[in-house]
Amino acid sequence: MKPIYLSLSFLGTLVVASASFNFKWLTDSQHWMHSVISNEAGSFNGREVEGRIATQLFSARHVADQKPLKPDPELREWLNQRIEKGTMGDLNTLIASVQMQFPNYVRLAVCTLQSPSVEDLLQKAFEWSNQTEKCFTHQAIIASAKAVRLGFECVIVTGQRLRDFQPSELAHGYDNFYIMCPLCRRGQACEVPPLMRSVSLECPHCRRPYAMLAVDTKGRYRHVNEFFTGYAPPARFPAGISRLNEMLIIWNSVVQSIRYVLDTADGNEKNDAWQTAAETRKLGSGDCEDSSIYLADWLIARGFDARVAVGHYAERGGHAWVIVQLEGSTYLLESTNPDVNTSRPPLVEDVGSRHVPDCTIDREGFYTRRNPSAPWDGDYWSQAKWQRVIPNPIKTVASAASEKGK
Ligand SMILES: [Zn+2]
Repeated sequence: MKPIYLSLSFLGTLVVASASFNFKWLTDSQHWMHSVISNEAGSFNGREVEGRIATQLFSARHVADQKPLKPDPELREWLNQRIEKGTMGDLNTLIASVQMQFPNYVRLAVCTLQSPSVEDLLQKAFEWSNQTEKCFTHQAIIASAKAVRLGFECVIVTGQRLRDFQPSELAHGYDNFYIMCPLCRRGQACEVPPLMRSVSLECPHCRRPYAMLAVDTKGRYRHVNEFFTGYAPPARFPAGISRLNEMLIIWNSVVQSIRYVLDTADGNEKNDAWQTAAETRKLGSGDCEDSSIYLADWLIARGFDARVAVGHYAERGGHAWVIVQLEGSTYLLESTNPDVNTSRPPLVEDVGSRHVPDCTIDREGFYTRRNPSAPWDGDYWSQAKWQRVIPNPIKTVASAASEKGK
């Protein structure tokens, strides 16, 4: 594995296009007269007008060869509540409020339109929609017949709404997402470069990694802790065996049964997939993170406090190994070297001076060093040195909002 640590390209500065069409609609006597004569304001309700405006936006984007916008019911409901409470404010206030409430929108275009006739309103909506951008994805429209039949008005909010982050979608060509950092709980846009096989996502606010992902053997991106499946192969241990000897037997079994094969041995970086313990055992081969996951998963299944460490070994670059905390000692288990002496307990102070971890992983999540630039001192466990991250589930806008409401 080659761990790649990416700072996110942070799209946090929202690009906002706003337009307020201040039509001189009250002086537009022709439309006004037409409206009064045909009693048009009485013929439509707001929902019907909204539907017709949506059709106008659809047509305008179709003409411009742009994808149609999807309705965003959550945004519409929020707008509706503001209108009912009379807290819309001016356009700038509205834009700022949308940004605050819906941080998953990275671009916005907002307009308010007024007209004495529906046909005129639709024409204005069509003209204005030329300003929406190709990347826009969603819309919310509120239209109402104004009081005392003065005509119609509407508010249109359109924008690019990022998808909530799902690792599985990385493999489907989506690379822009919205994520809420599980550590500082601030929302952010993130961009994952395509074709990265293992990725660490770092929060632009708190500057800490909050997700580590790797590609599995079926080409799907998964949180790295999901490769721990609680797997233990069928095995029988001598009665009354010590915990230390049990650890050494498991270690020896993995070292002797798994042949070290680099995923990318054929030169194809695309083959660098992570395997579960069951896959590695079945194949009888894997690279360092594969055999380490097998070993750690088995040890954890037998009740050991074990993790996979990912980092560097001397100048050789990226590497993975297993650490175990047992009876006050820390052991460092290499899983890829068939010549390693598995009868001698590998105390970290004896064998670990050249192993420098970036992170450790167990079933629930992963741990990152709080101060990665500090010299490595061999402490794999203390909370003062390590930050624990449980990435599942990464909070989405909807789940965070419902949590706030509790
Ligand atoms: Zn954060």
